[in-house]
Amino acid sequence: MDAAQALATADGGPTVCIDFDGCLSAYDGWRGGRVRPGLPIPGAPAACQRLADAGFVLVVLTARDDHAAVRAWLEEWGFPPMRVTSMKVPALVYIDDRAHRFTGDWAGVTAEWAMGLRPWWQSAGE
Ligand SMILES: [Mg+2]
Repeated sequence: MDAAQALATADGGPTVCIDFDGCLSAYDGWRGGRVRPGLPIPGAPAACQRLADAGFVLVVLTARDDHAAVRAWLEEWGFPPMRVTSMKVPALVYIDDRAHRFTGDWAGVTAEWAMGLRPWWQSAGE
């Protein structure tokens, strides 16, 4: 993993930063930071374990303020060790259900574009 090792961060290795609600925990919209998380999204614990086994540092990014509850949930469902934060961290990649890959072109970025974006768990037009 030479290329990835070159991208090691303060967390000790190449970092994959993963959004909590809608990526690890099933989710259908923000209802506040104290709502109990949903069930794990199928495949999430195994995918995180694969990345951890490959030497990646995993960081969970969440707007929730109860990080202890998030850590307990991750442990309950068998995720590998993952730091929990509400701060953006240096990372090789971000996984987020609300993200858009920026391609260097701002021309299409409009209010209409933003309002038309839908996370995977919400069908278009809702
Ligand atoms: Mg999310």
